Amino acid sequence: MKCSYCSKDIEGGTGFAYVRKNGSVRYYCTGRCKKLNLVQNRKLRKES
Ligand SMILES: [Zn+2]
Repeated sequence: MKCSYCSKDIEGGTGFAYVRKNGSVRYYCTGRCKKLNLVQNRKLRKES
């Protein structure tokens, strides 16, 4: 599987899984990618 933020391949057993409120699952290679993606989503929501 690939990181939802940077599209880097995530090795099995590593990375972070994040379940959104709508039930879809995002995978991140590092906690940093998770944080950045969540911050970006928040900004996008604010702009729209
Ligand atoms: Zn990543």
